[in-house]
Amino acid sequence: MSFKVTYENNKMIIPEISCGCGFSHAIPDIDVYIGRGILPECAGYIRKRNMGNKLVLVADNITYEVAGRKVEEILREDGFQVTLCLLEREEELKPDETALGEVLLAMDADTDFLVGVGSGSVTDITRYVAFNTGRPFVIAGTAASMDGYTSVVAPLLFNGQKVNKPSSCPVIIICDIDVMMTAPKPMFVSGVGDVLGKYIAKADWLLGRIINDEIYCPVCADIITQAVDNCMNNIDIIKNRTPEGTRILIEALILAGITILIVGNTRPVASIEHNMGHYWEMKKLERKEETPSHGIAVGVGTVYSLKFFDYFFNLDLSRIDKEEIRKNRLTREERIKKMKEGYGEKIAEAIMRENPEDFLDWEEQERRIDRVLSRMDEIKDTLKFLPSAEEMIKSMKELGAPVSASEIGIDQELLRDTFHHAKDYRSRYTVFKTLDELGLLNEAIEKIL
Ligand SMILES: [Zn+2]
Ligand SMILES: [Zn+2]
Repeated sequence: MSFKVTYENNKMIIPEISCGCGFSHAIPDIDVYIGRGILPECAGYIRKRNMGNKLVLVADNITYEVAGRKVEEILREDGFQVTLCLLEREEELKPDETALGEVLLAMDADTDFLVGVGSGSVTDITRYVAFNTGRPFVIAGTAASMDGYTSVVAPLLFNGQKVNKPSSCPVIIICDIDVMMTAPKPMFVSGVGDVLGKYIAKADWLLGRIINDEIYCPVCADIITQAVDNCMNNIDIIKNRTPEGTRILIEALILAGITILIVGNTRPVASIEHNMGHYWEMKKLERKEETPSHGIAVGVGTVYSLKFFDYFFNLDLSRIDKEEIRKNRLTREERIKKMKEGYGEKIAEAIMRENPEDFLDWEEQERRIDRVLSRMDEIKDTLKFLPSAEEMIKSMKELGAPVSASEIGIDQELLRDTFHHAKDYRSRYTVFKTLDELGLLNEAIEKIL
């Protein structure tokens, strides 16, 4: 079954999904508008959802100039009672306790809803406050820089450390192409990086299906495939920030975000390349260094992930010696020690608590090895859509995106650590786990470094 979205007066219409994959699919109740010059319609879009009349409008000094002031004027003119919460910063806005506090203090007991004007940080700040005060919220996006507009998790900073907090989705997302196409080029590069990561997410998901009989949704995979292909085929116009290029990119990001809601988790859109990005962010924050933007980190993670896939596809399986693998397995104690080395005591314990099934007994590991050995042809055939690392590097260079860790301030030592620890960030099955279970991860890491 092929999935096609259509538009009615710039409103995205998502078709009913019936695929029998095993997930129960819910079509999210979000009004997504994508179109040129649609910002002036925002009052009408909001009225349709009957959320009340009194709102707090959240923007930073940049997004306020780009679109926030206009939204404020339109809403006031329409009779809404608007309180402006302008998050003024000299540097880039951070989604931290100060920003959250400012938004909270701009609210009153009778505030009906919130409107965020911005991209990643403004959305996450607005999302978290809205969720915890039980208010609906609206987002007017200003950049096609990440797939998190529809997310139900807010990545925030607390005491300078990253925390992921449960949150809610916006009721309305307004993507005015005329606004988004004026975003700076690095934000486009970031958006494309986030889309490219979906190649890895899809490949790892299919690998999980073959090796562990994981539930796999072909419709969601199809949505993602269309989105990624569309971006890859239009790198040129995306790079030049044309209206059509901007539309293709934001549509891909929104659709990727919507599959998360359809499946109920981020399996279709995030895998080891995102884990690498999270690991870099965590370590950079620890060192009080600047973190690479999400999509740019994901793009670089995608290149390295493809190198591990290339290594896996070229393996000589006759080398696999199960006795040897069994002998070299980490004990549970060694595993725990390694987790704590990578993530620190507190985070390691939290990760292990959330992923109790992650430590395999030998019987399960052997079953997985046997599955790889007996179905390698099928694996290669199923994953042949993956570009090689070289092809990916070529496309990304064309876009002007960084393709190596050193370009985003990750040194060789941190890169090695990342390769050793990224797979343990969550129990989600990835090619890193395949290689680890085959006893070959260390060799692959050294070869790729
Ligand atoms: Zn992402
Ligand atoms: Zn499905």
